[in-house]
Amino acid sequence: MRKIQDRWVISPRDVIAELECNHRLHLEWSVINELLPPAPREDSPELELLAEQGIVHERKLAQELKSKGSFIDVAPAGFAHDALLAAHEKTLTAISDGIETIYQATFFTNSFLGFADFLILVKDDSGQPLKDSEGRFVYDPVDAKSARSAKRAAVLQVATYAAIMQELNLATPQKVHLWLGGDAKWSTSALDLIDLAQFFMKRVRERLDTYDSLPTPQWAPPKESCARCRWSTHCDTGRRQDRDLSLIQGIRSTSRSLLVTNGITTIDQMAVAQDEDRPKLPREVSKATFATLRDQAAIQVKGEGAPKPIYEIKSIEAFGLMPESSEGDIWFDMEGDPFANDGAGLEYMFGYLFRNGSDLEFKTFDARDLAQEKIAFIEFIQYLIERRKTFPDMHVYHYASYEVSAMLRLAQRHGVLEFEVDSLIREGLFVDLYALVRNAFRFSTESMSIKYIEKVYWTGNRDKEVSNAVGSVVQFEKALGRLRDGKEAEFTKILEEIKSYNKDDVDSTQQLDQWIRQQALANGIDIAALRPVHEAKAEMISDGEHELPIALQLLDGVPADKGNRSEEQQALALLAAAVSFHQREARPAWWAIFERALKDLDEMDAFNDVVIPTKVEVGPWTISGRQRNHRRTVTIEADGVDLSHVLDFEHIPQLLYEVAPSAFKEIQGSTRGFSDAKIVEIDNSKVVFEEIEKKNFPMWDTAPMAILPGSPIDTSTISKILRDELGAGTLARKAENLPLFPNTAWCDVLLRRDPRQLSGSLTHSGDPVEDITASLLDSDNSYVAVQGPPGTGKTYVGAHVIAKLAKQGWKIGVVAQSHAVIEHLMNNVQEIDSSIKMAKRGQSEKSRPKYHVDEVGPWAAGIVDEGYVIGGTVWSFSSQKLRSL
Ligand code: SF4
Repeated sequence: MRKIQDRWVISPRDVIAELECNHRLHLEWSVINELLPPAPREDSPELELLAEQGIVHERKLAQELKSKGSFIDVAPAGFAHDALLAAHEKTLTAISDGIETIYQATFFTNSFLGFADFLILVKDDSGQPLKDSEGRFVYDPVDAKSARSAKRAAVLQVATYAAIMQELNLATPQKVHLWLGGDAKWSTSALDLIDLAQFFMKRVRERLDTYDSLPTPQWAPPKESCARCRWSTHCDTGRRQDRDLSLIQGIRSTSRSLLVTNGITTIDQMAVAQDEDRPKLPREVSKATFATLRDQAAIQVKGEGAPKPIYEIKSIEAFGLMPESSEGDIWFDMEGDPFANDGAGLEYMFGYLFRNGSDLEFKTFDARDLAQEKIAFIEFIQYLIERRKTFPDMHVYHYASYEVSAMLRLAQRHGVLEFEVDSLIREGLFVDLYALVRNAFRFSTESMSIKYIEKVYWTGNRDKEVSNAVGSVVQFEKALGRLRDGKEAEFTKILEEIKSYNKDDVDSTQQLDQWIRQQALANGIDIAALRPVHEAKAEMISDGEHELPIALQLLDGVPADKGNRSEEQQALALLAAAVSFHQREARPAWWAIFERALKDLDEMDAFNDVVIPTKVEVGPWTISGRQRNHRRTVTIEADGVDLSHVLDFEHIPQLLYEVAPSAFKEIQGSTRGFSDAKIVEIDNSKVVFEEIEKKNFPMWDTAPMAILPGSPIDTSTISKILRDELGAGTLARKAENLPLFPNTAWCDVLLRRDPRQLSGSLTHSGDPVEDITASLLDSDNSYVAVQGPPGTGKTYVGAHVIAKLAKQGWKIGVVAQSHAVIEHLMNNVQEIDSSIKMAKRGQSEKSRPKYHVDEVGPWAAGIVDEGYVIGGTVWSFSSQKLRSL
């Protein structure tokens, strides 16, 4: 914001402040009114790197656009009033001239100043510039962001440009775009966001009118955006001076504000709070949360000034997460650079410590580009697989969820070792010591980062060139710069410094492992007795394969290069792809759920598809009428979140528990677990779920900690047929030296064999209905494919062929991707001949075709001597009842 000629001129930065933290707005206002000095420049290498990366990314895009068509840079020559006005006029002229790219588009009105990175001329389907009904060229605003995903603030910023373009009476943009790091692009309809941007702009203006003095206090409670805010030192200092509750490790902003409202404002007050001080009305802090915060505040206050952090054991059960020690154990830490590869990121170091005789040895797999990242990843996973053959009881210890998430990401990115990584994780090879420490111990530190707690057990020090994760990223970027300049030796030197930092991390992880075991011993905790309770397991895919997958067995002996395969080998490759298709498709969705489930609550909150409750109420377990299982309601509130944007009745979400009740999906190396829950009602920021008792397992009294996105659609019946019948059947024929692909329709398609006809060829009379009918009657257990673009009469021909064959006693199945398509074809058949017997189960009670039957299988089984037509999706035809017809 700035004051120009006595008028407030706001900018997108102010609009973002209104979204993220309006205290920032008040501080900025105070600076302009000379009540506060400007925020000092933060000495933050990360912020500097971010800014630098942003500029590089934007310039690269500008360069590309320049080479593609007409281009103008309208950046103002400074921030003086006249310079801004001139740039604004230049922007409007470029728009009316229809220049294809307008760089640094400047919008300067009496009350707004903003610079869109690019305005891009919209073209129609034939490549001509698009004009609106008033003959104005249509432009879309684009912002370049080096981040890999579209953050809320960036979306609002680019929407602000669309809103101001509308205000300036320019053509309304069709879309707003973010061009992200790693060449990712994000777009959405401009109209959907203009209202939102106008709403925030109005709020900023209204807020500015209310300010008349400095904010009190001059700091605000922490937000996610503090890490990127130039006032972060200012606010942090204020919080510390005032001993704010936010200093308590793990306190959530909702609990903090409820406590403050109830008169508990400092960590010291919280440390000695009584049960009766617990906020109950109008909103409650649960007993458990209150007790946890009080214990944490107390230990932090007690530990202040101590030479080392103090600690205590808070849960003996959590020690059960610790596997038995093995000769083959390794301690692992990865280094990644989110800025490398034009923002696509690079995992460049896989560091691990292992026992070599009586010594501990440190090694790394390194990468400097994507090709090497793939090799390093493959080598590391193969190293684990081989080592496991020697030490089947080994584990890989790491701290926090980064390593496991990165393994999953790399398998996906490079399309290799997905099954192996999945298996290693599911079998509990990786052990996250952070999950254990967080649950088992209470430390007097403000954070549970390993750098804070290691002072308790570690003999090393971090007095090195690279001493934290941000530092390692900054140094690696520097190293890549040296590499670009051809200075290999300097690159290697920096890499060695990072390696030394990485070794510190794995050393610290190894010593933490030892320390936890010593703590158990010293406190008489029998880890082995606790272990089965939390036996590491993660059933990611309910019907997963636990041996060498059939898909891999099918590929045995099939050359990797398509050009070197025989027709049969190519068919085997296609079959292998089909067999693993559903599992491969579902895996990323499962991995995304597990990734979220492993995070701390604050980190989880950053995901748009996760809901962190501000209040949870569970009802009693009840059973009534003909119900077979007990049920209970779980009411979750999330203040400030319109849950209808996150949840819907069609996608069943999962409720996440800190300690998984029995029969829930457990998460490897963690006490957490989740399960589906049915949504009963969504009312703004409140949602009511129904939980159902699990058969043969006890009911649970605990409350969920978060709502996770729903599991992927269950395709187990389909994949089971592909795997067990087609895949395993082929392997069995191979074992018995029988022809791999018998004369059946699916084998013909797989081998690209022409349709096999009894007469030797397809019928060609010129009448499609007659020809297709005759060809099908002449088919030798094969297929006839009919192909044609939309509108060429496939439904007409298909319906007539079906009607003719059904009348001749054929039993016909209609399958398609959607119910609507299936019913459309069946309706056509019915119109041709309403006497043909037909059945399909409707999608819902409200949407039922005339030929709806509840159970298609038994219905069809009762028709022996006549033809019929039944319809269903691939799920219906995979069911045993239809397959046994
Ligand atoms: S540091 Fe955090 S609380 Fe302070 S102004 Fe910035 S975003 Fe707001």
